[in-house]
Amino acid sequence: MSRPDDSVPSVPPRGGIEWNNLNWTVVIAIAALHAVAVAAVLPMFFSWSGLVLFLVLGWLTGGIGITLCYHRLLTHRSFRTPRWFEYLLTLCACLAWQGGPVEWVGVHRLHHKHSDDDHDPHSPKHGFTWSHILWMLRREIEGIRAHEAARDLLRDPVMRRIDRWFWVPQIVLAGLLLGVGWWIGGWMLGLSWVIWGVALRTVVVFHVTWFVNSASHTWGYQNFKETGDDSTNLWWVALLSFGEGWHNNHHAHPRSAAHGMRWFEFDLTWQTIRLLSWVGLARDIHRPPVEVPDAPSAEKPAPARDICPEPLPALPRTAGES
Ligand SMILES: [Zn+2]
Ligand SMILES: [Zn+2]
Repeated sequence: MSRPDDSVPSVPPRGGIEWNNLNWTVVIAIAALHAVAVAAVLPMFFSWSGLVLFLVLGWLTGGIGITLCYHRLLTHRSFRTPRWFEYLLTLCACLAWQGGPVEWVGVHRLHHKHSDDDHDPHSPKHGFTWSHILWMLRREIEGIRAHEAARDLLRDPVMRRIDRWFWVPQIVLAGLLLGVGWWIGGWMLGLSWVIWGVALRTVVVFHVTWFVNSASHTWGYQNFKETGDDSTNLWWVALLSFGEGWHNNHHAHPRSAAHGMRWFEFDLTWQTIRLLSWVGLARDIHRPPVEVPDAPSAEKPAPARDICPEPLPALPRTAGES
């Protein structure tokens, strides 16, 4: 039996640290990676080959893995690729240790559905630090059922398996770097490769991704005020994140494969997707809108948002609703 006001979802609590609701695996993994990454400042662990590994693996895991695959391909289906290539890209994303594809995609779709309202999983409206890192330290965030928002991925048995074992490729990579580095130049080179190519690279890619959630909803400009949220275009986040910082454009047109839309909004990932289409690895590309305003557009009612091909779950029911 429903009461008349049961249809109004309760406001889920957001912000701060809940000590009895911490995901200790995540807390310890993030803390340990930061602790090891700090060792990169010690000259004894520097090597030029370690720096090259940091840059190449940063692009491969952050640019190709998280930005191109988890975000534009799996979350928004901005383009299509052959299935084998999709799995390969997903493995690159797993190396960023930002969780398996199902959780990542589900949370991000719910962020678009509830951008900067009370039900957004990570809005700076609940605190800048909350949007940057604190939200993911919780075992559960009330009202967030990420798996229901990523049912398309769960229907694929290979994707389910990759999701279950997402943490393994990074361990294998660390072992390989340590072993090959030791074989070529001794223990110090092996350690240098692990510290620069795994720990520091993962931590930097973490913060770059997290800045999209925090800084690109706080500072910058809006081309599309009609999004009705706080998403912004922020040049330095765009440069670091391979184009993700043109985030207000993206909130206005979530399925567009291009996030940079004005001539100066450089978007390396969009250029990469174009390159993939030339070699036959990307098709059915969602193009950016033809008209992009030169000046911020006038405020209009928010458009219906086409976030992904899947219907997304409704807001959680309130207690007492039948
Ligand atoms: Zn956003
Ligand atoms: Zn998105």
